[in-house]
Amino acid sequence: MKRSTIWILTVVMAIALLGLLAMQIVYLEKMVAMRNSQFSEIVMRSLYSVSTMLEQNETQYFLDQDLAEAEQTYSGTQQKSFTFNDPHEAAIDTTINTEDPSTLRPANLNRLKNLNDTYQRKQEILKGQYLYQKSLLNEVILTILNHSSDRPIQERADSATVASYLRSELEFNGLTLPFEFAIVNRANGVVYKTDGYSPMSQQDVYTQVLFPNDPKSKQNTLNVTFPNKSDYIFSSVKFLVPSLAFTFLLLGVFLYTISLAFKQKKLSEIKNDFINNMTHEFKTPISSISIAAQMLNDDSVRKSPEMLKHVSGVINDETKRLRFQVEKVLQLSLFDRKNATMRLEEEDANANIYSIINTFKLKVEKYGGHINANLDAEDPIIKVDKMHFTNVIFNLLDNAVKYRREDVPPELTVTTVNPDEDHIQITVADNGIGMKREDLKKIFEKFYRVSTGNLHDVKGFGLGLAYVNKMIDLFGGSIRAESEVNKGSKFIITLPLYK
Ligand code: ADP
Repeated sequence: MKRSTIWILTVVMAIALLGLLAMQIVYLEKMVAMRNSQFSEIVMRSLYSVSTMLEQNETQYFLDQDLAEAEQTYSGTQQKSFTFNDPHEAAIDTTINTEDPSTLRPANLNRLKNLNDTYQRKQEILKGQYLYQKSLLNEVILTILNHSSDRPIQERADSATVASYLRSELEFNGLTLPFEFAIVNRANGVVYKTDGYSPMSQQDVYTQVLFPNDPKSKQNTLNVTFPNKSDYIFSSVKFLVPSLAFTFLLLGVFLYTISLAFKQKKLSEIKNDFINNMTHEFKTPISSISIAAQMLNDDSVRKSPEMLKHVSGVINDETKRLRFQVEKVLQLSLFDRKNATMRLEEEDANANIYSIINTFKLKVEKYGGHINANLDAEDPIIKVDKMHFTNVIFNLLDNAVKYRREDVPPELTVTTVNPDEDHIQITVADNGIGMKREDLKKIFEKFYRVSTGNLHDVKGFGLGLAYVNKMIDLFGGSIRAESEVNKGSKFIITLPLYK
């Protein structure tokens, strides 16, 4: 897949997923807003009912009071007919008015005249009752208008009544949430409140003016809060939470897939480079050997022992080079095998390093350089696979020469010390081209090669240090590198001592 294709897919998928997420969030917000307004509407409706009920209570109170007064005034002078009985009852009971002597007439008088009289009497009684009730009501209304606001609000709306009205009205409207309330007067002073009434913000408070006909300065408001309101609102939208979680999961999987695609792409590029490098590395010795073989066919070469020696030397060197390259490629297979075949044996680190340095000396001297050994570690017995340990030290020395500075002869130093009594530290230092800090972090990765740029043009597979790292790990040790551009590099291996 082309890099641009991966990018296009990434952008399209990102837009789709972010769009989905944005829509879900907008939907969630809308749901919460709708639920909130529904909630407010129910609460306001209930509060209005409570306020009306309190007003009705007050009317009842004044009515009862006026009635009581009226009963006192009328007792002794008026007949029972001035009660609030059903007017039909009064109509039937026409004989109870003792002030009217006509009601005592004998029944055998003219029926028609009798009936007429009865109607007239009844009308007068009803008129009297009506006028009485009207004046009573007028009186009550006047009292309510003029004096009701003089009563203390605690009496007009006592907390138990308000609580029970609120509960029943909210329940009637389908809201069974616990609530807290307070009565607040115009000066914002709390007249009384329930224990749990402590609103966080004014937004949480639902207010309703009580007795709206009171003079403005004497008006009181009923403030109600619902401590569990947010839970209630959330409970209605929580079914959306799994869908949001799935979207995030999808987003995570998508990011992981994209990063995998890019990694794969990089790996395939690295593998291509590797194959190119490998072909180059193999081609040179093969063509040298091929030329040498052609030379052997030449009679003049065969006749000259010196030429023969030279040609066989070339074949020998180039075969060795080829074998070294093959060995490197074979090392690659070690990475994919979980348990590389290891033959761990007790080895003297100093002795082994010394013999490797001896073999390597010639190569360094070829470039006019030196290799110094300060093998000071005591009891340097380590448990390693000799062949792999040799390869490790050899790879490090080989790199030190490979990445030398063109104008400076290579100076290599191999040191062994005991950082503590249980470990040995092997350091391979050079005065080569060095590396940048960001490269240092990656050089132990498989196939990683510092971008050669103008610095050097050395072919390699980017496997040497990855192999070294893997082997040191299998030996139970660790490796780190320090480097400075144009000054040199230092590879420090720490291995446990065998006791
Ligand atoms: P290769 O040498 O095949 O490229 P390595 O794994 O041995 O692969 O090294 C990885 C990279 O680390 C090299 O490309 C090189 O740039 C850098 N490197 C390794 N050793 C040294 C060194 N002694 N000095 C400078 N750079 C080094």
